[in-house]
Amino acid sequence: MSYPPDVAALVDDAESLCRRLAGEVLGGVYVVPRSAVVLPAGEEWRAGGWAGPAVAAQCRPAIEAAGRWKGFAPAVVVNDTPNVDPEHRAWAFRTTTVHELAHLVADPAAPVEIADPAAAAESLAATVRNMTAAGWGDAYPPARQIAWHSAQWVRVACHLATRANRAGFNVCLPLLWGYDWLSTPFAYLRVLSGEIAATDRRPIPDVLALPPNPALNALWLADAAAFYSASQSPPETSP
Ligand SMILES: [Zn+2]
Repeated sequence: MSYPPDVAALVDDAESLCRRLAGEVLGGVYVVPRSAVVLPAGEEWRAGGWAGPAVAAQCRPAIEAAGRWKGFAPAVVVNDTPNVDPEHRAWAFRTTTVHELAHLVADPAAPVEIADPAAAAESLAATVRNMTAAGWGDAYPPARQIAWHSAQWVRVACHLATRANRAGFNVCLPLLWGYDWLSTPFAYLRVLSGEIAATDRRPIPDVLALPPNPALNALWLADAAAFYSASQSPPETSP
């Protein structure tokens, strides 16, 4: 059974955005709506989306049921029922797609092919438990959060989001990430504005091959260092 029409429209839009932004490095990308993924019993969804080399294998039942399976390929899961007004749903879905796509582009890895359905289900269960066990967001171990959202990821996300908006796929820049430890997307877009303007017609592999951006790295390192050191401070004790 295909996705419900409203969900299929979100997915079609997001998959075409992925192809437009990163087709030359990733080919086609599956965007899997969270509502189609059956989570292991007792697990609760806490994140806006997730990306990783095993996502297509983990979500194959959902993709196949929707009649969209074309073999193992890069894939992301995106929450299609975010806590936003209905008219902002497409905006939020597309924005989370860009966030997750940036993970695939910044940290490329061949799709993990898990042919055995039971093994794929166990892989999904392990991923979901891993994301929920410690609680998502600021409760997640800082070192992991810092590694996942590296300076290179921030750079890619800012380039992709700018390109999406320029191509007419409106994304919500303030929602590109919502981590308290990272400066806002606007702060990063400000330090990257020259680089983005200079490369806006060049393919993404050219952007990835750019030399380090000192202003970007300085801002990101300050964010990461402050987050890490705050997490190492002893908890406040009552007098
Ligand atoms: Zn992320």
